[in-house]
Amino acid sequence: MDIKSIRGMNDVLAPEIFSWRMAEKIIRENFEKFGFSEIKTPIVENTTLFSRNLGETSDIVKKEMYTFLDRNEESLTLRPEGTAPVVRALVEHNLLNQDPVQKLYYWGPMFRYERPQKGRYRQFYQYGIEIFGVAAPQMDAELIAMLVDLYEKFDLKGLTVKLGSMGCEECRPKYRETLMSLLKPSAHILCNDCKERVEKNPLRVFDCKNPTCKEIAKVLPSMLDFLDEGCKKHFDAVRDNLVLLKTHFVVDKTLVRGFDYYNRTVFEITTEDLGAQNAIGGGGRYDKLTQELGGAACPAIGYAGGVERLILLVGEREEWKPKLQLFVVTPDERGMERAFQLAFSLRKNGVTAEIDYTGKSMKSQMKKADKLKAKHVLILGGTEIDQNAAVLRNMSTKEQETLKLTDLEAELLRRLK
Ligand code: AMP
Repeated sequence: MDIKSIRGMNDVLAPEIFSWRMAEKIIRENFEKFGFSEIKTPIVENTTLFSRNLGETSDIVKKEMYTFLDRNEESLTLRPEGTAPVVRALVEHNLLNQDPVQKLYYWGPMFRYERPQKGRYRQFYQYGIEIFGVAAPQMDAELIAMLVDLYEKFDLKGLTVKLGSMGCEECRPKYRETLMSLLKPSAHILCNDCKERVEKNPLRVFDCKNPTCKEIAKVLPSMLDFLDEGCKKHFDAVRDNLVLLKTHFVVDKTLVRGFDYYNRTVFEITTEDLGAQNAIGGGGRYDKLTQELGGAACPAIGYAGGVERLILLVGEREEWKPKLQLFVVTPDERGMERAFQLAFSLRKNGVTAEIDYTGKSMKSQMKKADKLKAKHVLILGGTEIDQNAAVLRNMSTKEQETLKLTDLEAELLRRLK
């Protein structure tokens, strides 16, 4: 039987898995330091949660969702993103009644039927944060600054924060109309997707990778020139607050994010080091989404970053790999029983220990210890055991000591813990 993993869905193996674990630890610690609590939502949701809220012209809803009928003919979808599920849970559990400000974060797999390539997969992990109940521009700036600080913890270089605004229900319609009227005369030369966008969501033309569409988009006006007073004030305040926090950013006049729920602040963090898939993450305000999902009106802002892309950037680091403290080498059968008990007991008491049960020669056991980068090797057996002793070898200094078998475990615990 030749069964392989599904295209675009990856196994994560050692040693890469060590970077995953460390990334998760660093991310969780950082979010928790800023007052976020974790939320876990199911991987599967009702299809309408996404089809209604992400936007019917979004790439995700149009062609990327993993949608299937449940056994009772209900349409379900593997979550393609984390915000809509978090908002659904927030409304469902009336979390805002407990505290009108909610700061939540998640970490988990998302699913999109995209064309797999480096940095783009069909199952990929995202870490994300969602803040509910704060409309103030300080929140937008703090969120962005927090993320830049997070990426600095990973020593990422060459990052750019792109900042834009999508305006609001008041000012965006006029901008949309302007774009529509400017695009209509050249609609026939746009790509098929953009032809449809002209009528339904002309802002998305800025997201198109087609060279002709890109050329046309270049000369279009920016949403920033159409912001009403409130949105302009908010945008300027986000910029000023980012300056106060000494966070570098560039204003991107044509930044539009892929989902329909955004308003006002939108931002993206990109890198020079990932080729075509250069976005590490993106986010923005979505002040109307709680209402659309049946909750009370509540300002909100969020961000989602991709784990795989982060791992591609940070690579593998020796210090992130688990350390083996002791390899118990048994040159012959005589030390085996004792070594067996000792290794188990040491592990129970917090020492990372390894032992070989496959009957390898002493030489290959030593080789294995070396390969596993064991800090110490305990040789239990051979001539030493006749003298009621074992040999402890420090693998980096190569120094050897003879330890008595009586109290061996206590002595090892004292030295290794
Ligand atoms: P989005 O939800 O599309 O704004 O994506 C947020 C971040 O998730 C992106 O900036 C990427 O880092 C990551 N991401 C999105 N789609 C994929 C994918 N198909 N494969 C891997 N990472 C992805």
